[in-house]
Amino acid sequence: VMKHNFIPGRTAGSERAFQDAKEVIPGGVTANIKYFSPYPLVMEKGKGSRLLDVDGNEYIDYLLCYGALILGHGHSRVAEAVISQMNSSGTFIFGSPHQLEVEMARKLITLFPGIEMVRYTNSGLEATLLSIRLAEAYTGKRKVAKFEGHYHGGYDQMLVSVNPDAGKAGQASNPNPVPDSKGISDYHLEHTIVLPFNDLEATEKILRKHKDELSSVILEPIQGGFIPAEEKFMKGLRKITEELGILLIFDEVKTGFRLTVGGAQTIYNIKPDITALGKVLGGGFPIGAVGGKKEIMAIMSPDRGKDILTAGAKNDVKDDVMFHSGTYNGHPIVLAAGMATIEVLEEPGTMEELLRKSNNLRKELEKLYNKYNLSMKTIGMGSIFNLVFTDGPVKNYRDMAKADLELRKKIDYELLHRGIYTKPMNRYSMSVVHSRGDLQFTIDAHEKAIKKVIQKVRG
Ligand code: PLP
Repeated sequence: VMKHNFIPGRTAGSERAFQDAKEVIPGGVTANIKYFSPYPLVMEKGKGSRLLDVDGNEYIDYLLCYGALILGHGHSRVAEAVISQMNSSGTFIFGSPHQLEVEMARKLITLFPGIEMVRYTNSGLEATLLSIRLAEAYTGKRKVAKFEGHYHGGYDQMLVSVNPDAGKAGQASNPNPVPDSKGISDYHLEHTIVLPFNDLEATEKILRKHKDELSSVILEPIQGGFIPAEEKFMKGLRKITEELGILLIFDEVKTGFRLTVGGAQTIYNIKPDITALGKVLGGGFPIGAVGGKKEIMAIMSPDRGKDILTAGAKNDVKDDVMFHSGTYNGHPIVLAAGMATIEVLEEPGTMEELLRKSNNLRKELEKLYNKYNLSMKTIGMGSIFNLVFTDGPVKNYRDMAKADLELRKKIDYELLHRGIYTKPMNRYSMSVVHSRGDLQFTIDAHEKAIKKVIQKVRG
């Protein structure tokens, strides 16, 4: 039996904790993506840009809870807002409407061009799920189109062609719907049309073919948070969907507050019909939100949106209301954390400095890999990027699949040994509290990792 030498002698506590967890939690993880081989590191403390594992190893964190922690760990402003909300209200949650829901909704309406009204959920997954149901209820059509390689949360209809095997994925310009999990019903495969990202011509062709059944197109404006839609593609997609009566859903769960506070739609200057938010919006607590045009959002109004829907609007609700609910929706403590987070991000210079840091790190890393004759490029936008080992362009899922993933994996494991935390193969997210020293440490760690990997590969 092969003995795993993960971080020799230094992560015995994580390994023990993992063995223990496995007895009561499948695979020892509460989300499949949190697993990595031979065992995930088990963390105990976080502070600022740092994480401390159960063995006392310290890491600079670039995973940042999959991008959610844009202010780093335990930011004092967020902590104060949470405590103050509990103290002033005397409760954790009211179970009734409350003022913060409106305050946050007004904030989101100001920030996001496509948002005129808001509903809250408890996760990004729920936000895209609700977006899709809204589109189906509004248009009366039953199918949804998504892009190959785009992730919208782990539920049946969206667990299609997120990460398909090359052998099953079909033609690049006309991808097959491939289930990403066991237990995905034929219904969902039949009702999900898969599109090729950044290929406007092929996308248009598929959309035209299915226009009578398609309620919506959902996409990550920046695939995986790091492969941007080309501007021409985005403009074209908006135009075609409008023409064909298909709603355009921007899944801004990752991008929402990480490019500019107002998300990718602000950068691209495109108004989606519906927007899904999450992650940063909760300041480290669980949340999601759906925003969109009044005419669409109003179909959730229990009072049938009488004062919102104009006479003759396409959507004359009459007696059908689209149901949406959730015990913890609009949780006051979460909203307080989110408001505090947005306030910090809106302070003059904060976003600019965050983006400057990300760009500097990207530049320095590219220079470094170049020095060692490794064709690595950083792909990304705003405060999220990824390291991709390839000579070719990276515009979609197929391009990513052509990159040298083995090399990337080796580097990532060496980085873990040297105090840089990303889940292997995951993108990098930057926080406002990462310091110059952190970045220099990161670059030095990469250099050591490169040397080690090259030594192994090139001998
Ligand atoms: N949509 C996108 C673009 C995401 O990145 C994620 C999470 O990674 C989700 C939806 C799902 O959000 P959550 O994990 O909060 O359910």
